[in-house]
Amino acid sequence: MENKDIKLINEDGTRIDGRRPDELRPIRMKVGLLERADGSAYLEWGGNKILAAVYGPREMYPKHQQDPARAVVRARYSMAPFSVDERKRPGPDRRSVELSMVISNALSAAVLTEEFPRTVIDVFIEVLQADAGTRIAGLTAASLALADAGIPMRDLVVGCTAGKIEGVVVLDLNKEEDNYGEADVPLGILPRTGEIVLFQMDGMMTEEELCTALDMAYNAAMEIHRMQVKALKDVYMKEAEEGGE
Ligand code: UDP
Repeated sequence: MENKDIKLINEDGTRIDGRRPDELRPIRMKVGLLERADGSAYLEWGGNKILAAVYGPREMYPKHQQDPARAVVRARYSMAPFSVDERKRPGPDRRSVELSMVISNALSAAVLTEEFPRTVIDVFIEVLQADAGTRIAGLTAASLALADAGIPMRDLVVGCTAGKIEGVVVLDLNKEEDNYGEADVPLGILPRTGEIVLFQMDGMMTEEELCTALDMAYNAAMEIHRMQVKALKDVYMKEAEEGGE
């Protein structure tokens, strides 16, 4: 949706929240805070607050849903009723079914599913507060929760969005930019190889703009990956130190 009355880029080239085009919103992440899940993570990204919990791998029931060759990674994205301005009706809707599917596919590409045939790995993504970019923030938190559950992966998955507002290619759109900007491209990236495991696009961009957007997203993915590794080390290095005392 475009709106000519709303100005998204300031005179000095900064955005309405003061960021440069290639600047991320503040991100904080924490691993392993839920005792009853096999793995968990909590992430704040701009105004988004998201909890991810993992159960499994465990035997898949009903049996006809089993894959004899690999584990099924089953993510469920859910928005709390109080997470958005207008109370969200609880339960799945078309959007959450779509997001659950694209997140499941992205995580499946990273998990070594062939090591756990006939099982299911459940990933619950609970959006407690939403502020644009919840699918990529949810994906980032989910991959941390999988790592916390000790599930072997080829790489952590990093989510990130790039897009276009008022003709300028920008990173990590906020709510106003998402609503009134010209395009947004949510991405899931495996930072080690640069593989893209989630790619969606809303709006129009030229090929050149898309290349710039992808470059920005790749650089940001490296930065977010470092934060993920630090969040994991904060828990596991500390445990190792305490164990060694
Ligand atoms: N949103 C909302 N109500 C809804 C769905 C979305 O208010 O039922 C808001 C929410 O802040 C969300 C943003 O719109 O983060 C953008 O939603 P989109 O579908 O683009 O997905 P996202 O950017 O969160 O991955």
